Amino acid sequence: TKENNYLRKNLQQVTVEAQRDFLTGVFNRKSFERLIDEQMLLAKENNTELCLLMIDVDHFKIFNDKFGHLLGDEVLKIVARTLTDTLKGRDVVARFGGEEFIVVLPETPIEGAMRVAEMIRSGIAGKGLKRRDTGETFGSITVSIGVSRFRHEDDTLLTMIKRADDALYCSKHNGRNRVTKEIMKEA
Ligand code: GH3
Ligand code: MG
Ligand code: MG
Repeated sequence: TKENNYLRKNLQQVTVEAQRDFLTGVFNRKSFERLIDEQMLLAKENNTELCLLMIDVDHFKIFNDKFGHLLGDEVLKIVARTLTDTLKGRDVVARFGGEEFIVVLPETPIEGAMRVAEMIRSGIAGKGLKRRDTGETFGSITVSIGVSRFRHEDDTLLTMIKRADDALYCSKHNGRNRVTKEIMKEA
């Protein structure tokens, strides 16, 4: 009946919304954890590579202080859009927290992940930010990125994130607006 259809559509919409970050539209943290669990299992089963990118907006506190929180929100939307535009297929983009995003790249070796990360970094740094109504410019924003690779033998989500986070910290420490690879264990 009509009413049933209406309820079904509503439920579908609520289900989709519950998986997304309300501000940027990318997956939220909860969906991310479910999706990466699946991808880690698949990588093990099929013996394929999988990489993780941890992305953090540089000096975002200063941006907010200078231009306001609402414009800061717009910046987060732009970052999210750049991510979804750059990525494809089964890649997963999620908002990890405040101004941090996380990306899962299935079937991607670390060299490929570094190239993708560099595309993201340069894509965001290359965007001039301008207010459409007033023409006021905000210069540009940059992101720092850390990259880690799934170790089939001994990795958990936590340890893989930790290495991406450590690499991200190196990017920050070395001047920001850059991509750093995890420190690889000798074979
Ligand atoms: P760093 O380069 O070291 O990452 O510096 P940072 O200022 O980006 O890092 P810090 O962790 O000190 O500050 C993060 C800022 O991100 C603080 C907070 O105001 C801002 N932020 C977090 N979530 C949101 C949000 O949803 N909207 C807006 N506008 N700002 C947010
Ligand atoms: Mg941060
Ligand atoms: Mg930051």
